[in-house]
Amino acid sequence: MSDTTDVEDVESFAARARAWLAANMPRPPDESRRDPSDDSDEEELRRVARSRRLQRLLYDGGFAGICVPSAYGGQGLTLAHQLAFNEEIADYDYPTETQLPTFTPCLPVILEFGTEDQKNTHIPPMLRGETAWMQLLSEPSGGSDVAAALTTAARDGDEWVLNGSKIWTTGAWWADWGLCLARTNWDVPKHRGLSVFMLDMHQPGIEIHRIEMLNGSREFCQEFLTDVRVPESLRVGAVDGGWTVGVRWMLHERTVLGQSPYVTGEPVRRRLGQGPGGGVAPLLQRARDLGLLTDPKASELIGEVFAMSVVGSTLGSHIAEGIRTGRLAEDAGAITRLYVGTSAVRNASIAFELAGLSAIAWSDSEAELGKRGIDYLMRQAACIGGGTTEMSRNVISERVLGMPRERAFDRDVPFRDVPRSAPQR
Ligand SMILES: Cc1cc2nc3c(=O)[nH]c(=O)nc-3n(C[C@H](O)[C@H](O)[C@H](O)COP(=O)(O)OP(=O)(O)OC[C@H]3O[C@@H](n4cnc5c(N)ncnc54)[C@H](O)[C@@H]3O)c2cc1C
Repeated sequence: MSDTTDVEDVESFAARARAWLAANMPRPPDESRRDPSDDSDEEELRRVARSRRLQRLLYDGGFAGICVPSAYGGQGLTLAHQLAFNEEIADYDYPTETQLPTFTPCLPVILEFGTEDQKNTHIPPMLRGETAWMQLLSEPSGGSDVAAALTTAARDGDEWVLNGSKIWTTGAWWADWGLCLARTNWDVPKHRGLSVFMLDMHQPGIEIHRIEMLNGSREFCQEFLTDVRVPESLRVGAVDGGWTVGVRWMLHERTVLGQSPYVTGEPVRRRLGQGPGGGVAPLLQRARDLGLLTDPKASELIGEVFAMSVVGSTLGSHIAEGIRTGRLAEDAGAITRLYVGTSAVRNASIAFELAGLSAIAWSDSEAELGKRGIDYLMRQAACIGGGTTEMSRNVISERVLGMPRERAFDRDVPFRDVPRSAPQR
Protein backbone atom coordinates (compact mmCIF):
# COMPACT_ATOMS: atom_id res chain seq x y z
CA MET A 1 0.00 0.00 0.00
CA SER A 2 2.57 2.56 1.09
CA ASP A 3 4.67 3.79 -1.88
CA THR A 4 7.85 4.42 0.12
CA THR A 5 8.96 4.12 3.70
CA ASP A 6 9.38 7.92 3.77
CA VAL A 7 5.69 8.77 4.24
CA GLU A 8 4.04 11.59 6.15
CA ASP A 9 3.57 10.59 9.79
CA VAL A 10 0.02 9.73 10.80
CA GLU A 11 -0.33 12.60 13.30
CA SER A 12 0.57 15.36 10.89
CA PHE A 13 -1.56 13.70 8.20
CA ALA A 14 -4.52 13.68 10.62
CA ALA A 15 -3.98 17.35 11.49
CA ARG A 16 -3.83 18.25 7.80
CA ALA A 17 -7.00 16.22 7.17
CA ARG A 18 -8.78 17.89 10.12
CA ALA A 19 -8.06 21.37 8.75
CA TRP A 20 -9.04 20.41 5.21
CA LEU A 21 -12.29 18.75 6.30
CA ALA A 22 -13.31 21.76 8.40
CA ALA A 23 -12.75 24.06 5.43
CA ASN A 24 -14.22 21.87 2.67
CA MET A 25 -16.46 19.01 3.72
CA PRO A 26 -20.17 19.52 4.40
CA ARG A 27 -21.85 18.07 7.48
CA PRO A 28 -24.29 15.22 6.75
CA PRO A 29 -27.58 16.74 5.62
CA ASP A 30 -30.62 15.92 7.73
CA GLU A 31 -31.97 13.79 4.90
CA SER A 32 -29.10 11.33 5.39
CA ARG A 33 -30.87 10.36 8.64
CA ARG A 34 -33.98 9.46 6.63
CA ASP A 35 -34.61 5.93 5.56
CA PRO A 36 -33.18 5.70 1.99
CA SER A 37 -35.79 3.04 1.18
CA ASP A 38 -38.38 5.87 1.15
CA ASP A 39 -36.58 7.55 -1.75
CA SER A 40 -38.14 7.93 -5.17
CA ASP A 41 -35.90 7.10 -8.14
CA GLU A 42 -35.15 10.82 -8.55
CA GLU A 43 -34.11 11.07 -4.89
CA GLU A 44 -31.93 7.97 -5.17
CA LEU A 45 -30.23 9.43 -8.25
CA ARG A 46 -29.72 12.70 -6.35
CA ARG A 47 -28.05 10.77 -3.50
CA VAL A 48 -25.82 8.99 -6.02
CA ALA A 49 -24.91 12.32 -7.66
CA ARG A 50 -24.08 13.82 -4.25
CA SER A 51 -21.95 10.79 -3.45
CA ARG A 52 -20.01 11.28 -6.71
CA ARG A 53 -19.51 15.01 -5.92
CA LEU A 54 -18.22 14.22 -2.43
CA GLN A 55 -15.81 11.67 -3.90
CA ARG A 56 -14.52 14.29 -6.36
CA LEU A 57 -14.08 16.70 -3.45
CA LEU A 58 -11.94 14.13 -1.62
CA TYR A 59 -9.96 13.53 -4.79
CA ASP A 60 -9.28 17.23 -5.38
CA GLY A 61 -8.26 17.62 -1.74
CA GLY A 62 -5.73 14.78 -2.00
CA PHE A 63 -7.67 12.41 0.27
CA ALA A 64 -9.11 9.87 -2.19
CA GLY A 65 -7.60 6.40 -2.37
CA ILE A 66 -5.44 6.90 0.72
CA CYS A 67 -4.04 3.35 0.43
CA VAL A 68 -4.08 3.21 -3.40
CA PRO A 69 -0.64 3.53 -5.02
CA SER A 70 0.04 7.04 -6.33
CA ALA A 71 0.75 5.54 -9.79
CA TYR A 72 -3.03 5.00 -10.08
CA GLY A 73 -4.09 8.35 -8.63
CA GLY A 74 -4.13 7.40 -4.93
CA GLN A 75 -2.11 8.72 -1.99
CA GLY A 76 0.17 5.70 -1.50
CA LEU A 77 -0.24 5.79 2.29
CA THR A 78 -1.03 3.11 4.91
CA LEU A 79 -4.07 1.66 6.68
CA ALA A 80 -3.11 3.70 9.76
CA HIS A 81 -3.55 6.88 7.66
CA GLN A 82 -6.92 5.64 6.38
CA LEU A 83 -8.12 4.83 9.91
CA ALA A 84 -6.97 8.24 11.16
CA PHE A 85 -8.86 9.86 8.27
CA ASN A 86 -11.97 7.81 9.13
CA GLU A 87 -11.91 9.25 12.66
CA GLU A 88 -11.56 12.79 11.35
CA ILE A 89 -14.36 12.43 8.80
CA ALA A 90 -16.82 10.66 11.16
CA ASP A 91 -18.96 13.79 11.75
CA TYR A 92 -18.92 14.94 8.11
CA ASP A 93 -20.78 13.83 5.04
CA TYR A 94 -18.90 11.32 2.91
CA PRO A 95 -19.66 9.21 -0.17
CA THR A 96 -21.87 6.19 0.53
CA GLU A 97 -23.63 4.81 -2.57
CA THR A 98 -20.61 5.14 -4.86
CA GLN A 99 -18.09 3.79 -2.34
CA LEU A 100 -19.43 0.26 -2.08
CA PRO A 101 -18.83 -2.01 -3.83
CA THR A 102 -16.67 0.32 -6.00
CA PHE A 103 -13.81 0.74 -3.50
CA THR A 104 -14.24 -2.65 -1.90
CA PRO A 105 -14.28 -5.27 -3.25
CA CYS A 106 -14.01 -4.07 -6.91
CA LEU A 107 -10.97 -1.79 -6.60
CA PRO A 108 -8.70 -4.20 -4.66
CA VAL A 109 -9.65 -7.02 -7.07
CA ILE A 110 -8.48 -4.86 -9.99
CA LEU A 111 -5.38 -3.79 -8.04
CA GLU A 112 -4.47 -7.42 -7.30
CA PHE A 113 -5.37 -9.10 -10.56
CA GLY A 114 -5.68 -6.35 -13.19
CA THR A 115 -3.11 -5.68 -15.89
CA GLU A 116 -1.22 -2.38 -15.82
CA ASP A 117 -3.49 -1.14 -18.59
CA GLN A 118 -6.65 -2.13 -16.66
CA LYS A 119 -5.39 -0.42 -13.52
CA ASN A 120 -4.40 2.77 -15.34
CA THR A 121 -7.70 2.89 -17.20
CA HIS A 122 -10.14 2.04 -14.44
CA ILE A 123 -8.79 3.06 -11.05
CA PRO A 124 -8.36 6.85 -11.55
CA PRO A 125 -12.00 7.38 -12.70
CA MET A 126 -13.18 5.41 -9.62
CA LEU A 127 -11.17 7.71 -7.34
CA ARG A 128 -12.53 10.82 -9.10
CA GLY A 129 -16.11 9.62 -8.50
CA GLU A 130 -16.72 9.27 -12.25
CA THR A 131 -17.44 5.54 -12.31
CA ALA A 132 -19.51 3.50 -9.88
CA TRP A 133 -18.99 -0.26 -9.92
CA MET A 134 -21.05 -3.18 -8.68
CA GLN A 135 -20.64 -6.89 -8.30
CA LEU A 136 -22.37 -9.50 -10.43
CA LEU A 137 -21.96 -12.65 -8.35
CA SER A 138 -25.33 -14.02 -7.18
CA GLU A 139 -27.54 -15.88 -9.63
CA PRO A 140 -31.20 -16.93 -9.47
CA SER A 141 -30.03 -20.52 -8.92
CA GLY A 142 -28.23 -19.53 -5.68
CA GLY A 143 -25.81 -17.05 -4.16
CA SER A 144 -23.95 -18.86 -1.39
CA ASP A 145 -22.42 -21.43 -3.70
CA VAL A 146 -20.72 -18.74 -5.77
CA ALA A 147 -18.58 -21.26 -7.64
CA ALA A 148 -21.71 -22.86 -9.10
CA ALA A 149 -22.29 -19.86 -11.41
CA LEU A 150 -24.29 -20.76 -14.53
CA THR A 151 -23.73 -17.51 -16.45
CA THR A 152 -21.51 -18.54 -19.33
CA ALA A 153 -18.74 -16.75 -21.21
CA ALA A 154 -17.73 -18.33 -24.56
CA ARG A 155 -14.62 -17.24 -26.47
CA ASP A 156 -15.19 -15.72 -29.92
CA GLY A 157 -11.94 -14.41 -31.40
CA ASP A 158 -10.79 -11.40 -29.38
CA GLU A 159 -14.05 -11.27 -27.54
CA TRP A 160 -16.10 -13.22 -25.01
CA VAL A 161 -19.84 -13.68 -25.36
CA LEU A 162 -21.75 -13.72 -22.07
CA ASN A 163 -25.19 -15.24 -21.49
CA GLY A 164 -27.08 -15.77 -18.25
CA SER A 165 -28.63 -13.89 -15.38
CA LYS A 166 -27.34 -12.25 -12.20
CA ILE A 167 -29.54 -11.11 -9.32
CA TRP A 168 -29.71 -9.08 -6.09
CA THR A 169 -27.29 -6.57 -7.56
CA THR A 170 -27.51 -3.44 -5.47
CA GLY A 171 -27.65 -0.27 -7.56
CA ALA A 172 -27.15 -1.94 -10.94
CA TRP A 173 -29.64 0.44 -12.54
CA TRP A 174 -27.40 3.47 -11.99
CA ALA A 175 -23.96 1.82 -11.95
CA ASP A 176 -21.41 2.22 -14.77
CA TRP A 177 -19.33 -0.95 -14.51
CA GLY A 178 -19.59 -4.38 -12.95
CA LEU A 179 -17.26 -7.22 -12.08
CA CYS A 180 -18.86 -10.41 -13.33
CA LEU A 181 -17.99 -14.02 -12.49
CA ALA A 182 -18.86 -16.37 -15.36
CA ARG A 183 -18.29 -19.97 -16.38
CA THR A 184 -15.72 -20.41 -19.13
CA ASN A 185 -15.32 -24.18 -18.86
CA TRP A 186 -18.06 -26.75 -18.18
CA ASP A 187 -15.77 -29.78 -18.46
CA VAL A 188 -13.84 -29.30 -15.21
CA PRO A 189 -15.01 -29.20 -11.55
CA LYS A 190 -16.88 -26.04 -10.67
CA HIS A 191 -14.05 -24.08 -9.04
CA ARG A 192 -11.72 -24.63 -12.02
CA GLY A 193 -13.90 -23.35 -14.85
CA LEU A 194 -14.62 -19.73 -13.92
CA SER A 195 -13.29 -16.38 -15.17
CA VAL A 196 -13.87 -12.76 -14.17
CA PHE A 197 -14.80 -9.96 -16.56
CA MET A 198 -15.26 -6.21 -16.36
CA LEU A 199 -18.64 -5.35 -17.77
CA ASP A 200 -19.61 -1.95 -19.15
CA MET A 201 -23.20 -1.80 -17.86
CA HIS A 202 -24.30 0.56 -20.65
CA GLN A 203 -23.65 -1.87 -23.51
CA PRO A 204 -26.21 -3.73 -25.64
CA GLY A 205 -27.45 -7.11 -24.39
CA ILE A 206 -27.74 -6.14 -20.71
CA GLU A 207 -31.34 -5.85 -19.59
CA ILE A 208 -31.82 -4.60 -16.06
CA HIS A 209 -35.00 -5.31 -14.10
CA ARG A 210 -35.68 -3.63 -10.78
CA ILE A 211 -36.83 -5.69 -7.77
CA GLU A 212 -39.00 -4.13 -5.10
CA MET A 213 -38.18 -5.17 -1.56
CA LEU A 214 -40.58 -5.50 1.33
CA ASN A 215 -39.71 -1.98 2.58
CA GLY A 216 -40.45 -0.42 -0.82
CA SER A 217 -36.79 0.04 -1.83
CA ARG A 218 -36.07 -0.68 -5.51
CA GLU A 219 -32.28 -0.58 -5.37
CA PHE A 220 -32.03 -4.35 -6.00
CA CYS A 221 -31.81 -5.49 -9.64
CA GLN A 222 -31.75 -8.60 -11.77
CA GLU A 223 -29.71 -8.48 -14.98
CA PHE A 224 -30.33 -10.62 -18.04
CA LEU A 225 -27.24 -10.98 -20.23
CA THR A 226 -27.95 -11.94 -23.83
CA ASP A 227 -24.94 -12.26 -26.16
CA VAL A 228 -23.08 -9.52 -24.29
CA ARG A 229 -19.73 -9.05 -26.05
CA VAL A 230 -16.75 -8.32 -23.82
CA PRO A 231 -13.28 -7.70 -25.27
CA GLU A 232 -10.51 -10.02 -24.09
CA SER A 233 -8.78 -6.90 -22.69
CA LEU A 234 -11.51 -6.72 -20.02
CA ARG A 235 -10.90 -10.21 -18.62
CA VAL A 236 -9.42 -10.02 -15.07
CA GLY A 237 -7.02 -12.78 -13.99
CA ALA A 238 -6.43 -16.03 -15.83
CA VAL A 239 -8.89 -17.87 -18.08
CA ASP A 240 -10.53 -20.53 -15.85
CA GLY A 241 -8.65 -18.95 -12.92
CA GLY A 242 -11.67 -16.95 -11.75
CA TRP A 243 -11.93 -18.80 -8.45
CA THR A 244 -8.51 -17.49 -7.40
CA VAL A 245 -9.86 -14.00 -8.10
CA GLY A 246 -13.22 -14.87 -6.51
CA VAL A 247 -11.70 -16.00 -3.20
CA ARG A 248 -9.87 -12.67 -2.81
CA TRP A 249 -12.97 -10.82 -4.06
CA MET A 250 -15.12 -12.32 -1.26
CA LEU A 251 -12.38 -11.77 1.29
CA HIS A 252 -12.31 -8.07 0.37
CA GLU A 253 -16.11 -8.01 0.48
CA ARG A 254 -16.04 -9.11 4.10
CA THR A 255 -13.67 -6.23 4.99
CA VAL A 256 -16.47 -3.84 4.00
CA LEU A 257 -17.84 -4.47 7.47
CA GLY A 258 -14.49 -4.30 9.22
CA GLN A 259 -11.59 -2.02 8.41
CA SER A 260 -10.96 -1.91 4.71
CA PRO A 261 -7.89 0.05 3.58
CA TYR A 262 -9.91 1.37 0.64
CA VAL A 263 -13.13 2.58 2.28
CA THR A 264 -13.56 6.06 3.74
CA GLY A 265 -15.60 6.25 6.94
CA GLU A 266 -18.07 3.53 7.85
CA PRO A 267 -20.74 3.71 5.12
CA VAL A 268 -22.35 0.38 6.01
CA ARG A 269 -22.63 1.11 9.72
CA ARG A 270 -23.89 4.62 8.97
CA ARG A 271 -26.60 3.11 6.83
CA LEU A 272 -27.47 0.47 9.44
CA GLY A 273 -27.65 3.20 12.08
CA GLN A 274 -24.62 1.71 13.84
CA GLY A 275 -22.40 4.78 13.54
CA PRO A 276 -20.92 6.63 16.51
CA GLY A 277 -23.29 6.17 19.45
CA GLY A 278 -24.56 2.95 17.92
CA GLY A 279 -28.10 4.21 17.31
CA VAL A 280 -28.57 4.85 21.04
CA ALA A 281 -29.56 8.52 20.67
CA PRO A 282 -32.76 7.85 18.66
CA LEU A 283 -33.70 5.03 21.05
CA LEU A 284 -33.26 7.31 24.05
CA GLN A 285 -35.35 9.98 22.33
CA ARG A 286 -38.06 7.42 21.56
CA ALA A 287 -38.05 6.14 25.15
CA ARG A 288 -38.37 9.76 26.33
CA ASP A 289 -41.27 10.45 23.91
CA LEU A 290 -43.07 7.27 24.98
CA GLY A 291 -42.52 7.93 28.70
CA LEU A 292 -40.34 4.82 29.04
CA LEU A 293 -37.18 6.42 30.42
CA THR A 294 -37.74 4.97 33.89
CA ASP A 295 -39.03 1.63 32.60
CA PRO A 296 -36.53 -1.07 33.74
CA LYS A 297 -37.08 -3.20 30.61
CA ALA A 298 -36.43 -0.18 28.34
CA SER A 299 -33.22 0.64 30.26
CA GLU A 300 -32.06 -2.94 29.85
CA LEU A 301 -32.68 -2.93 26.08
CA ILE A 302 -31.06 0.47 25.47
CA GLY A 303 -28.06 -0.58 27.55
CA GLU A 304 -27.77 -3.70 25.39
CA VAL A 305 -27.74 -1.62 22.18
CA PHE A 306 -25.01 0.60 23.60
CA ALA A 307 -22.96 -2.43 24.67
CA MET A 308 -23.32 -3.95 21.21
CA SER A 309 -22.06 -0.75 19.59
CA VAL A 310 -18.99 -0.69 21.87
CA VAL A 311 -18.31 -4.39 21.25
CA GLY A 312 -18.81 -3.90 17.49
CA SER A 313 -16.25 -1.15 17.07
CA THR A 314 -13.73 -2.75 19.44
CA LEU A 315 -14.12 -6.11 17.70
CA GLY A 316 -13.60 -4.47 14.27
CA SER A 317 -10.30 -2.88 15.39
CA HIS A 318 -9.17 -6.04 17.20
CA ILE A 319 -9.76 -8.29 14.18
CA ALA A 320 -8.21 -5.81 11.74
CA GLU A 321 -5.13 -5.51 13.98
CA GLY A 322 -4.91 -9.31 14.26
CA ILE A 323 -4.99 -9.69 10.49
CA ARG A 324 -2.47 -6.88 9.99
CA THR A 325 0.03 -8.40 12.40
CA GLY A 326 -0.50 -11.94 11.07
CA ARG A 327 -1.90 -13.16 14.42
CA LEU A 328 -5.19 -13.99 12.71
CA ALA A 329 -5.89 -15.50 9.30
CA GLU A 330 -7.09 -12.96 6.70
CA ASP A 331 -10.40 -14.82 6.67
CA ALA A 332 -10.99 -13.65 10.26
CA GLY A 333 -12.84 -10.71 8.65
CA ALA A 334 -15.74 -13.20 8.68
CA ILE A 335 -15.95 -12.72 12.47
CA THR A 336 -16.68 -9.01 12.04
CA ARG A 337 -19.13 -9.78 9.25
CA LEU A 338 -20.95 -12.27 11.51
CA TYR A 339 -21.16 -9.79 14.38
CA VAL A 340 -22.41 -6.90 12.21
CA GLY A 341 -25.19 -9.14 10.86
CA THR A 342 -26.31 -10.65 14.16
CA SER A 343 -26.10 -7.34 16.06
CA ALA A 344 -28.10 -5.55 13.33
CA VAL A 345 -30.86 -8.15 13.76
CA ARG A 346 -30.83 -7.68 17.54
CA ASN A 347 -30.84 -3.86 17.18
CA ALA A 348 -33.86 -4.01 14.88
CA SER A 349 -35.67 -6.34 17.29
CA ILE A 350 -34.98 -4.04 20.26
CA ALA A 351 -36.11 -0.92 18.35
CA PHE A 352 -39.29 -2.83 17.42
CA GLU A 353 -39.93 -3.87 21.00
CA LEU A 354 -39.46 -0.33 22.30
CA ALA A 355 -41.81 1.10 19.68
CA GLY A 356 -44.67 -0.98 21.08
CA LEU A 357 -47.93 -1.67 19.30
CA SER A 358 -47.48 1.33 16.96
CA ALA A 359 -44.75 -0.63 15.18
CA ILE A 360 -47.41 -3.12 14.14
CA ALA A 361 -50.27 -0.76 13.24
CA TRP A 362 -49.60 2.96 13.04
CA SER A 363 -51.40 6.17 12.22
CA ASP A 364 -49.90 8.87 9.95
CA SER A 365 -48.55 10.74 12.95
CA GLU A 366 -46.76 7.56 14.14
CA ALA A 367 -45.00 6.80 10.85
CA GLU A 368 -41.61 6.92 12.58
CA LEU A 369 -42.71 4.12 14.95
CA GLY A 370 -44.22 2.21 12.03
CA LYS A 371 -40.81 2.19 10.37
CA ARG A 372 -39.49 0.12 13.26
CA GLY A 373 -42.00 -2.55 12.23
CA ILE A 374 -40.75 -2.48 8.63
CA ASP A 375 -37.13 -2.57 9.83
CA TYR A 376 -38.02 -5.57 11.98
CA LEU A 377 -39.43 -7.42 8.97
CA MET A 378 -36.32 -6.46 6.94
CA ARG A 379 -33.85 -7.29 9.70
CA GLN A 380 -32.56 -10.52 8.18
CA ALA A 381 -31.12 -8.67 5.15
CA ALA A 382 -28.12 -7.71 7.31
CA CYS A 383 -27.36 -11.44 7.68
CA ILE A 384 -27.61 -12.11 3.92
CA GLY A 385 -26.02 -9.26 1.93
CA GLY A 386 -22.26 -9.56 1.51
CA GLY A 387 -22.48 -13.34 2.02
CA THR A 388 -24.72 -14.89 4.68
CA THR A 389 -23.84 -15.21 8.35
CA GLU A 390 -24.18 -19.00 7.94
CA MET A 391 -21.42 -18.90 5.32
CA SER A 392 -19.35 -16.69 7.68
CA ARG A 393 -19.66 -19.36 10.34
CA ASN A 394 -18.39 -21.92 7.82
CA VAL A 395 -15.43 -19.67 6.92
CA ILE A 396 -14.58 -19.16 10.60
CA SER A 397 -14.64 -22.87 11.39
CA GLU A 398 -12.85 -24.06 8.25
CA ARG A 399 -10.40 -21.28 7.38
CA VAL A 400 -9.78 -19.53 10.70
CA LEU A 401 -9.93 -22.51 13.08
CA GLY A 402 -8.75 -25.12 10.58
CA MET A 403 -11.68 -27.49 11.21
CA PRO A 404 -12.54 -30.08 8.52
CA ARG A 405 -14.23 -28.71 5.39
CA GLU A 406 -17.90 -29.44 4.91
CA ARG A 407 -18.61 -32.35 2.57
CA ALA A 408 -19.29 -31.46 -1.04
CA PHE A 409 -20.53 -34.01 -3.56
CA ASP A 410 -19.59 -31.85 -6.56
CA ARG A 411 -15.99 -30.88 -5.78
CA ASP A 412 -14.31 -33.31 -8.18
CA VAL A 413 -17.06 -33.76 -10.76
CA PRO A 414 -16.96 -31.95 -14.13
CA PHE A 415 -19.49 -29.14 -13.70
CA ARG A 416 -21.44 -30.30 -16.75
CA ASP A 417 -22.23 -33.57 -14.91
CA VAL A 418 -23.38 -31.99 -11.64
CA PRO A 419 -27.14 -32.56 -11.27
CA ARG A 420 -29.06 -29.29 -11.18
CA SER A 421 -32.57 -28.09 -11.74
CA ALA A 422 -31.59 -25.27 -14.13
CA PRO A 423 -31.45 -26.17 -17.86
CA GLN A 424 -28.23 -28.00 -18.82
CA ARG A 425 -25.95 -26.36 -21.41
C1 LIG B 1 -28.78 -6.22 1.12
C2 LIG B 1 -28.23 -7.20 0.10
C3 LIG B 1 -27.37 -6.76 -0.88
C4 LIG B 1 -26.87 -7.67 -1.83
N1 LIG B 1 -26.05 -7.19 -2.82
C5 LIG B 1 -25.59 -8.05 -3.77
C6 LIG B 1 -24.77 -7.57 -4.85
O1 LIG B 1 -24.53 -6.36 -4.98
N2 LIG B 1 -24.30 -8.47 -5.76
C7 LIG B 1 -24.58 -9.80 -5.66
O2 LIG B 1 -24.11 -10.56 -6.50
N3 LIG B 1 -25.37 -10.29 -4.66
C8 LIG B 1 -25.87 -9.44 -3.73
N4 LIG B 1 -26.70 -9.91 -2.72
C9 LIG B 1 -27.06 -11.32 -2.70
C10 LIG B 1 -26.36 -12.09 -1.59
O3 LIG B 1 -24.98 -12.14 -1.81
C11 LIG B 1 -27.01 -13.47 -1.59
O4 LIG B 1 -28.36 -13.30 -1.25
C12 LIG B 1 -26.34 -14.38 -0.58
O5 LIG B 1 -25.04 -14.70 -1.01
C13 LIG B 1 -27.14 -15.66 -0.36
O6 LIG B 1 -27.49 -16.25 -1.56
P1 LIG B 1 -28.98 -16.72 -1.85
O7 LIG B 1 -29.89 -15.58 -1.47
O8 LIG B 1 -29.05 -17.23 -3.25
O9 LIG B 1 -29.25 -17.87 -0.80
P2 LIG B 1 -28.84 -19.41 -0.96
O10 LIG B 1 -27.41 -19.50 -1.38
O11 LIG B 1 -29.88 -20.09 -1.77
O12 LIG B 1 -28.93 -19.89 0.54
C14 LIG B 1 -30.18 -20.09 1.22
C15 LIG B 1 -29.89 -20.27 2.70
O13 LIG B 1 -29.09 -21.46 2.88
C16 LIG B 1 -27.91 -21.14 3.63
N5 LIG B 1 -26.78 -21.92 3.10
C17 LIG B 1 -26.45 -22.09 1.79
N6 LIG B 1 -25.34 -22.83 1.68
C18 LIG B 1 -24.93 -23.11 2.96
C19 LIG B 1 -23.83 -23.83 3.50
N7 LIG B 1 -22.93 -24.41 2.71
N8 LIG B 1 -23.73 -23.88 4.84
C20 LIG B 1 -24.65 -23.30 5.66
N9 LIG B 1 -25.72 -22.60 5.20
C21 LIG B 1 -25.85 -22.51 3.87
C22 LIG B 1 -27.68 -19.66 3.39
O14 LIG B 1 -26.94 -19.08 4.44
C23 LIG B 1 -29.12 -19.12 3.34
O15 LIG B 1 -29.59 -18.90 4.63
C24 LIG B 1 -27.24 -9.03 -1.78
C25 LIG B 1 -28.14 -9.47 -0.78
C26 LIG B 1 -28.64 -8.57 0.14
C27 LIG B 1 -29.61 -9.04 1.18
